[in-house]
Amino acid sequence: MDNRDKLSTLARQIQICKKCPLYKEATKAVPGEGSSEAKIVFIGEGPGFYEDVQGKPFVGNAGKYLDFLLTKVGLKRDEVFITNVVKHRPPENRDPATAEVIACSAWLEQQLAIISPKIIVTLGRWSLARYAPRAKISDVHGKLFRTQGVAVLPMYHPAAALRSGQTQKQLEEDFLKNSDLFSNPEKTEELTKNTLENGQVSLPEGQGSLF
Ligand code: SF4
Repeated sequence: MDNRDKLSTLARQIQICKKCPLYKEATKAVPGEGSSEAKIVFIGEGPGFYEDVQGKPFVGNAGKYLDFLLTKVGLKRDEVFITNVVKHRPPENRDPATAEVIACSAWLEQQLAIISPKIIVTLGRWSLARYAPRAKISDVHGKLFRTQGVAVLPMYHPAAALRSGQTQKQLEEDFLKNSDLFSNPEKTEELTKNTLENGQVSLPEGQGSLF
């Protein structure tokens, strides 16, 4: 079975998952989509209204804005993989409960094990918390760090950027600042100088940013 088949099998299992209560009010699961050979995986929080209806990740306004950001750094949506921390929509777009995130984490774990990306881009605080539970997104956005054998690049969530001009400006700067990295994801080992200590991203002394 190749990676594509493995992800499809996993997606079918996710679609019938009842491991937490979120499936009860959702229309359909949103397992994620993109290349099974992606070097870069984007992880958001959870499906919203349009994602829930279509069963696809990032298809509403935030998704259109993410497409715009990808284009700005020369990436095509079908060459990356896009998914979320929880695969069913939390009612009224509320934050997922910790127990729901934990219940769903096994699916994300399996997706990442199949794809084995070079870079994981976390979109928003929920996916950042998976890798750096004590880090504040306002401190570490746009700064690559390495943990659990992979390079992690925290970014603000596109939906948050659509609500705040300042966040939008910052998110666009962070994408552009890392455009070389997006073009050369194999270079993360030599570029990653930031580390993770006690759940917080540790930046080299005197360095506010990696680049
Ligand atoms: S959110 Fe995740 S754990 Fe909960 S029912 Fe859906 S797929 Fe299963």
